Amino acid sequence: MANNGPKYAYFKGEIVPIEHAKVSVMTHALNYGTGAFGGVRAYWNDEEEELYIFRPLDHFRRVLNSGKILLMDLPYTAQSMLDILIELLRIENYRQQDIYIRPLIYKSSEGIGVRLHDLDADFTMFAVPFGSYIENETGSRVTFSAWRRIDDNVIPARGKITGAYANSALIKTDAALSGFDEALVLNQNGHIAEGSAENFFMVRDGVVITPPIHANILEGITRSTLIQLMQDELNLPVEVREIDRTELFVADEAFFCGTGVQVVAITEVDHRAVGTGEMGPVVQQVRDLYFNVVRGKVARYCDWNVPVYRAQV
Ligand code: PMP
Repeated sequence: MANNGPKYAYFKGEIVPIEHAKVSVMTHALNYGTGAFGGVRAYWNDEEEELYIFRPLDHFRRVLNSGKILLMDLPYTAQSMLDILIELLRIENYRQQDIYIRPLIYKSSEGIGVRLHDLDADFTMFAVPFGSYIENETGSRVTFSAWRRIDDNVIPARGKITGAYANSALIKTDAALSGFDEALVLNQNGHIAEGSAENFFMVRDGVVITPPIHANILEGITRSTLIQLMQDELNLPVEVREIDRTELFVADEAFFCGTGVQVVAITEVDHRAVGTGEMGPVVQQVRDLYFNVVRGKVARYCDWNVPVYRAQV
């Protein structure tokens, strides 16, 4: 996906050329999946000639919370991670394009032994130019995965834990190799959890419905952004409740959301059209508003947009 970047990374306490940001094969996180990451986007605003990072403090807080789950003691705060990110983006001097940022915290000790305690942890970050995550912007064809979502008592889904993404990779690859764009995954109770790397919403009779946090989903930042926008700006009732698989077969509309995927309609599920089989009016409205908000074009939400070049660090 990267074309003209990245040239730099934050690694072991400083910004270094990307080719110097390398870890040993003995690194604990590489062997045991004991890392946690984030996925943040920055959007270019043409009129203002500014790059806006979307809700970075919320992303960094979630990264640090994942670190807490993994017993990591890191000398960073969400604000200090943001300061580093602004410096990194300025050095990359990304302009006229949208950017995807990958912060990663990881058990950096080298050696054998599965555990969380008595290990060093470190923080690294890089940023790449990035477009769409699911190619088809107008709709996606989806299947229900044969895999189940990891349970909170297996690997907590609320943390973006690197090892847990083997679950997402199994889900995504089975779907892709069977010709689908994405898959939805059920939790241990048989209710819809989310996509391989996206949260899920559906619309029935004018009500927007999404699974609760305890359905073993990631506490998505786009999910909470959309809940707020739909309620406060679009006057759409939002219900947070468990969803049966077959409810999607009879839903009027459905969509995925996430930092990577942004907002993408689900237009077909397991060979059945969702609603009309085309992107519906609710998804269209939500998408339009979301893209204006993330690009820093809606004054009321400008606290969510952190400018890179105008910011005082
Ligand atoms: N669920 C999973 C499993 C994810 O990996 C992601 C992507 N971070 C999401 C949901 C969406 O979360 P967010 O809106 O915070 O990017």
